[in-house]
Amino acid sequence: MRLITFLTFVTFAFTTFSQKITITADKLFDGNEVRSDWGVVIDGNKIAEVGPIARLTKGDSTLHFSGSTLMPGMIEGHSHVLLYPYNRRLWNDQVLKESRSLRAIRGAKMATRNLYAGFTTIRDLGSEGAGYADVGIKQSIELGIIDGPRMLVAGRAIVATGSYGPKGFHPDFDVPLGAEPADGHNLQTVVRDQIGKGADFIKVYADYRWGPKGEARPTFSAEELKLIVETAASSGRDVVAHAATTEGMRRATLAGVKTIEHGTEATDEVLSLMKERNVALCPTLAATHSIQRYFANWDGSDESEPDAIKNKRAMFKRALSSGVTIVAGGDVGVFEHGENVLELELMVDYGMKEIEVLKSVTSVNAKAFGLDNLGQLKTGYLADLIVVKGDPVKSISDLYNVELVMKDGVIIELEE
Ligand SMILES: [Zn+2]
Repeated sequence: MRLITFLTFVTFAFTTFSQKITITADKLFDGNEVRSDWGVVIDGNKIAEVGPIARLTKGDSTLHFSGSTLMPGMIEGHSHVLLYPYNRRLWNDQVLKESRSLRAIRGAKMATRNLYAGFTTIRDLGSEGAGYADVGIKQSIELGIIDGPRMLVAGRAIVATGSYGPKGFHPDFDVPLGAEPADGHNLQTVVRDQIGKGADFIKVYADYRWGPKGEARPTFSAEELKLIVETAASSGRDVVAHAATTEGMRRATLAGVKTIEHGTEATDEVLSLMKERNVALCPTLAATHSIQRYFANWDGSDESEPDAIKNKRAMFKRALSSGVTIVAGGDVGVFEHGENVLELELMVDYGMKEIEVLKSVTSVNAKAFGLDNLGQLKTGYLADLIVVKGDPVKSISDLYNVELVMKDGVIIELEE
């Protein structure tokens, strides 16, 4: 009897305070297709209806955006909230000279910028020497202490002993590294430890610039990568591999990682292997673009395009024709947080259709990252959505014109 009374009260309270909000716009992109004069009805933190404006239930309040596009909140596939552009401070100096607390406080602010830019979820791929500050930032967002996107975090990430930076010090001088070194059977312990400390997935560097001439070379053996994947999989977690070399990509693909980051030297052969094994590519075009701008004196024009950009363009074209799944992630942090759309502009510039880029940054990313109730405007899905002025299907840069951000059914006040 007491229980029934309690349940009646709960139901009553819910129906009293739950406000239905109708949001409509000239264009709606639902994560797959574009419609005209459609909208959504939001009930609590869920999408209750999606359809033509005339057929939607009238909510307690209605917001209409003319000349705008309503779409799912974007998902950043590759971020580092604990980094900021290397032309402002070199990566080495960020890792070696800045305290954990300074980095965490800045990182929290950077996370917020991602949200204000319309990215309601980010996959943050390693704290780069800041320990588990990413886990703390994620918790601060979940507790409502700061505004920020949903975060999937990697924690420290794993590198092979001797391969990662900062480098160039007296051999007897141990400097803090940008990720956690581990090898052989110890990998099992390190994977489990990282999971225990809050990693949502494991990030591993399948190769790194440790060749005799400083070039990228594979690091872990095929067996080591398999052990990492198996250990993570046992806990229900995926593995993400940094890989620039063909061999690093091949080993990571055969080991069963979920996505490969960068893919600089991807051949047709390794791309088709990835497709066959259902491994997605996260090309991080904006990182290469930004590094060339910072350090190769490139003005950004087509005429003076450096080889690194030409190669990346060619790689992206091969990836497009291979049919491999392409997830959108720019390695934001290497460039300014909040300017995440740069990656999407480059994807279009390098040959992907706008609509495909929009799918990549919403429904495709959601699927690849195991987010089964995000990335689409669909009944029953979580109410993460944005409105941008203009029509990004025609002009991808319109994604910069964010007018509304709703996360988990709550409209975010855009401050920056
Ligand atoms: Zn990265």
